[in-house]
Amino acid sequence: MIVTIDGPAGTGKSTAARSVAQAVGFEYLDTGAMYRVVALLALEAGVEVTSAADLSQITQRASISFDSGRTLTAGRDVSALIRTLEVTEAASLVAQHPEVRDALVQEQRRFAGTRDIVCEGRDQGTVVFPHAECKFFLTADARIRTQRRLQELDAQNKPTDFDSLLQQIEERDRRDAERAIAPLRPAEDALVLDTGPLSPEDVVEQMVAIIRERQVQSGP
Ligand code: C5P
Repeated sequence: MIVTIDGPAGTGKSTAARSVAQAVGFEYLDTGAMYRVVALLALEAGVEVTSAADLSQITQRASISFDSGRTLTAGRDVSALIRTLEVTEAASLVAQHPEVRDALVQEQRRFAGTRDIVCEGRDQGTVVFPHAECKFFLTADARIRTQRRLQELDAQNKPTDFDSLLQQIEERDRRDAERAIAPLRPAEDALVLDTGPLSPEDVVEQMVAIIRERQVQSGP
Protein backbone atom coordinates (compact mmCIF):
# COMPACT_ATOMS: atom_id res chain seq x y z
CA MET A 1 0.00 0.00 0.00
CA ILE A 2 1.16 3.53 -0.79
CA VAL A 3 0.34 6.31 1.67
CA THR A 4 1.04 9.87 0.50
CA ILE A 5 1.47 12.84 2.82
CA ASP A 6 1.67 16.27 1.18
CA GLY A 7 1.44 19.82 2.42
CA PRO A 8 3.47 22.98 3.00
CA ALA A 9 6.52 23.25 5.26
CA GLY A 10 5.99 23.35 9.00
CA THR A 11 2.75 21.39 9.18
CA GLY A 12 4.53 18.62 11.08
CA LYS A 13 4.53 16.52 7.91
CA SER A 14 7.96 14.94 8.31
CA THR A 15 7.56 14.06 11.96
CA ALA A 16 4.10 12.66 11.30
CA ALA A 17 5.22 10.71 8.21
CA ARG A 18 8.12 9.11 10.07
CA SER A 19 6.01 8.16 13.09
CA VAL A 20 3.12 6.91 10.99
CA ALA A 21 5.46 4.73 8.89
CA GLN A 22 6.95 3.26 12.03
CA ALA A 23 3.54 2.64 13.62
CA VAL A 24 2.18 0.74 10.62
CA GLY A 25 5.50 -0.93 9.72
CA PHE A 26 5.88 0.79 6.33
CA GLU A 27 8.99 2.21 4.64
CA TYR A 28 9.36 5.99 4.63
CA LEU A 29 10.43 8.23 1.74
CA ASP A 30 11.29 11.89 2.37
CA THR A 31 11.10 13.39 -1.14
CA GLY A 32 11.96 16.88 0.12
CA ALA A 33 15.38 15.50 1.08
CA MET A 34 15.92 14.58 -2.58
CA TYR A 35 15.29 18.17 -3.76
CA ARG A 36 17.54 19.34 -0.95
CA VAL A 37 20.40 17.08 -2.11
CA VAL A 38 20.17 18.49 -5.64
CA ALA A 39 20.21 22.02 -4.18
CA LEU A 40 23.24 21.22 -2.00
CA LEU A 41 25.17 19.74 -4.93
CA ALA A 42 24.31 22.78 -7.06
CA LEU A 43 25.55 25.15 -4.34
CA GLU A 44 28.72 23.12 -3.84
CA ALA A 45 29.40 23.12 -7.58
CA GLY A 46 28.75 26.85 -7.81
CA VAL A 47 25.95 26.22 -10.28
CA GLU A 48 23.16 28.78 -10.64
CA VAL A 49 19.88 27.39 -9.28
CA THR A 50 18.30 28.78 -12.45
CA SER A 51 20.47 26.84 -14.90
CA ALA A 52 18.27 23.99 -16.17
CA ALA A 53 21.01 22.14 -18.06
CA ASP A 54 23.44 22.12 -15.13
CA LEU A 55 20.74 21.12 -12.67
CA SER A 56 19.62 18.31 -14.91
CA GLN A 57 23.14 16.91 -15.01
CA ILE A 58 23.55 17.24 -11.25
CA THR A 59 20.25 15.43 -10.66
CA GLN A 60 21.21 12.57 -12.98
CA ARG A 61 24.49 12.09 -11.13
CA ALA A 62 23.22 12.68 -7.60
CA SER A 63 22.81 8.99 -6.77
CA ILE A 64 20.61 9.62 -3.73
CA SER A 65 20.00 6.91 -1.17
CA PHE A 66 18.69 6.57 2.37
CA ASP A 67 20.13 4.48 5.15
CA SER A 68 18.73 4.24 8.69
CA GLY A 69 17.25 7.74 8.52
CA ARG A 70 20.35 9.26 6.94
CA THR A 71 20.41 10.88 3.50
CA LEU A 72 23.34 9.98 1.25
CA THR A 73 24.58 11.22 -2.11
CA ALA A 74 27.08 8.95 -3.83
CA GLY A 75 27.62 7.33 -0.44
CA ARG A 76 28.34 10.65 1.38
CA ASP A 77 26.18 11.41 4.44
CA VAL A 78 24.65 14.86 3.87
CA SER A 79 21.81 14.59 6.42
CA ALA A 80 22.91 17.71 8.32
CA LEU A 81 24.16 19.71 5.33
CA ILE A 82 20.79 19.60 3.55
CA ARG A 83 18.99 21.20 6.51
CA THR A 84 20.68 24.63 6.43
CA LEU A 85 18.61 27.72 5.60
CA GLU A 86 20.67 28.25 2.46
CA VAL A 87 19.87 24.78 1.12
CA THR A 88 16.21 25.11 2.18
CA GLU A 89 15.91 28.26 0.10
CA ALA A 90 17.77 26.79 -2.88
CA ALA A 91 15.70 23.57 -2.80
CA SER A 92 12.50 25.45 -3.45
CA LEU A 93 14.10 27.14 -6.50
CA VAL A 94 15.62 23.92 -7.82
CA ALA A 95 12.20 22.25 -7.48
CA GLN A 96 10.72 24.57 -10.12
CA HIS A 97 12.64 22.86 -12.93
CA PRO A 98 10.83 20.15 -14.90
CA GLU A 99 14.15 18.41 -15.66
CA VAL A 100 14.85 18.03 -11.95
CA ARG A 101 11.28 17.02 -11.10
CA ASP A 102 11.00 14.41 -13.86
CA ALA A 103 14.21 12.69 -12.81
CA LEU A 104 13.33 12.71 -9.11
CA VAL A 105 9.76 11.53 -9.73
CA GLN A 106 11.16 8.52 -11.60
CA GLU A 107 13.48 7.82 -8.68
CA GLN A 108 10.59 8.10 -6.23
CA ARG A 109 8.48 5.60 -8.19
CA ARG A 110 11.43 3.25 -8.45
CA PHE A 111 12.09 3.52 -4.74
CA ALA A 112 8.46 2.78 -3.86
CA GLY A 113 8.23 -0.19 -6.23
CA THR A 114 5.75 -2.60 -4.73
CA ARG A 115 6.58 -1.80 -1.12
CA ASP A 116 4.29 -0.69 1.65
CA ILE A 117 5.49 2.88 1.96
CA VAL A 118 4.70 6.36 3.29
CA CYS A 119 5.82 9.00 0.74
CA GLU A 120 6.04 12.56 1.93
CA GLY A 121 6.36 15.75 -0.15
CA ARG A 122 4.32 18.24 -2.14
CA ASP A 123 3.12 16.25 -5.16
CA GLN A 124 3.01 12.67 -3.97
CA GLY A 125 -0.78 12.28 -4.07
CA THR A 126 -1.33 14.45 -7.15
CA VAL A 127 1.51 13.58 -9.55
CA VAL A 128 3.82 10.84 -8.34
CA PHE A 129 1.31 8.32 -6.98
CA PRO A 130 -2.14 9.38 -8.23
CA HIS A 131 -3.43 5.86 -7.50
CA ALA A 132 -2.16 5.73 -3.90
CA GLU A 133 -4.62 3.96 -1.64
CA CYS A 134 -4.43 6.53 1.14
CA LYS A 135 -3.70 10.24 0.71
CA PHE A 136 -3.28 12.95 3.30
CA PHE A 137 -2.78 16.69 2.90
CA LEU A 138 -1.65 18.51 6.03
CA THR A 139 -2.26 22.22 6.53
CA ALA A 140 -1.74 24.76 9.31
CA ASP A 141 -1.86 28.53 9.56
CA ALA A 142 1.41 30.14 8.35
CA ARG A 143 1.96 31.83 11.75
CA ILE A 144 1.67 28.51 13.59
CA ARG A 145 4.09 26.90 11.13
CA THR A 146 6.54 29.76 11.61
CA GLN A 147 6.36 29.38 15.39
CA ARG A 148 7.12 25.65 15.11
CA ARG A 149 10.05 26.23 12.78
CA LEU A 150 11.39 28.95 15.09
CA GLN A 151 11.41 26.47 17.96
CA GLU A 152 13.25 23.90 15.85
CA LEU A 153 15.89 26.46 14.86
CA ASP A 154 16.25 27.63 18.47
CA ALA A 155 16.81 24.03 19.54
CA GLN A 156 19.57 23.82 16.92
CA ASN A 157 21.11 27.03 18.30
CA LYS A 158 20.20 28.94 15.16
CA PRO A 159 17.93 31.68 16.49
CA THR A 160 16.18 33.82 13.90
CA ASP A 161 13.39 36.37 14.05
CA PHE A 162 9.72 35.56 13.59
CA ASP A 163 8.91 38.10 10.88
CA SER A 164 11.70 37.21 8.49
CA LEU A 165 11.00 33.49 8.96
CA LEU A 166 7.27 34.05 8.32
CA GLN A 167 8.16 35.96 5.17
CA GLN A 168 10.44 33.14 3.97
CA ILE A 169 7.79 30.51 4.66
CA GLU A 170 5.10 32.49 2.84
CA GLU A 171 7.42 33.06 -0.10
CA ARG A 172 8.23 29.34 -0.35
CA ASP A 173 4.52 28.45 -0.06
CA ARG A 174 3.78 30.85 -2.88
CA ARG A 175 6.51 29.38 -5.09
CA ASP A 176 5.34 25.82 -4.40
CA ALA A 177 1.67 26.66 -4.99
CA GLU A 178 2.14 28.79 -8.09
CA ARG A 179 4.72 26.81 -10.00
CA ALA A 180 3.67 25.49 -13.41
CA ILE A 181 4.60 21.88 -12.73
CA ALA A 182 3.27 19.83 -9.84
CA PRO A 183 2.00 22.80 -7.84
CA LEU A 184 1.28 22.25 -4.18
CA ARG A 185 -2.40 21.37 -3.80
CA PRO A 186 -4.41 18.55 -2.24
CA ALA A 187 -5.39 15.64 -4.51
CA GLU A 188 -9.15 15.44 -4.96
CA ASP A 189 -9.26 12.22 -2.97
CA ALA A 190 -6.89 13.43 -0.21
CA LEU A 191 -7.96 13.77 3.37
CA VAL A 192 -7.13 17.32 4.47
CA LEU A 193 -6.01 17.57 8.08
CA ASP A 194 -5.45 20.92 9.83
CA THR A 195 -2.63 20.16 12.26
CA GLY A 196 -2.79 23.63 13.87
CA PRO A 197 -5.03 22.69 16.80
CA LEU A 198 -3.70 19.12 17.11
CA SER A 199 -0.77 17.69 19.06
CA PRO A 200 1.75 15.67 17.02
CA GLU A 201 0.50 12.53 18.78
CA ASP A 202 -3.10 13.27 17.77
CA VAL A 203 -2.08 13.78 14.14
CA VAL A 204 -0.31 10.42 14.06
CA GLU A 205 -3.15 8.65 15.85
CA GLN A 206 -5.75 9.94 13.38
CA MET A 207 -3.64 9.04 10.37
CA VAL A 208 -2.81 5.55 11.64
CA ALA A 209 -6.50 4.86 12.30
CA ILE A 210 -7.39 5.85 8.74
CA ILE A 211 -4.59 3.75 7.21
CA ARG A 212 -5.70 0.70 9.23
CA GLU A 213 -9.26 1.23 8.02
CA ARG A 214 -8.07 1.34 4.40
CA GLN A 215 -5.96 -1.78 4.93
CA VAL A 216 -9.04 -3.65 6.12
CA GLN A 217 -11.08 -2.34 3.17
CA SER A 218 -8.47 -3.35 0.60
CA GLY A 219 -8.15 -6.83 2.14
CA PRO A 220 -5.08 -9.03 2.59
O1 C5P B 1 9.78 19.14 2.45
P1 C5P B 1 11.03 19.97 2.39
O2 C5P B 1 10.89 21.31 3.05
O3 C5P B 1 12.24 19.22 2.85
O4 C5P B 1 11.25 20.24 0.83
C1 C5P B 1 12.22 21.14 0.36
C2 C5P B 1 11.71 21.81 -0.92
O5 C5P B 1 11.61 20.84 -1.96
C3 C5P B 1 10.33 22.42 -0.78
O6 C5P B 1 10.37 23.79 -0.46
C4 C5P B 1 9.69 22.22 -2.15
O7 C5P B 1 9.90 23.36 -2.96
C5 C5P B 1 10.46 21.07 -2.76
N1 C5P B 1 9.68 19.84 -2.84
C6 C5P B 1 8.91 19.63 -3.95
N2 C5P B 1 8.26 18.45 -4.12
C7 C5P B 1 8.35 17.48 -3.21
C8 C5P B 1 9.12 17.68 -2.04
C9 C5P B 1 9.77 18.88 -1.88
O8 C5P B 1 8.80 20.52 -4.79
N3 C5P B 1 7.72 16.32 -3.44
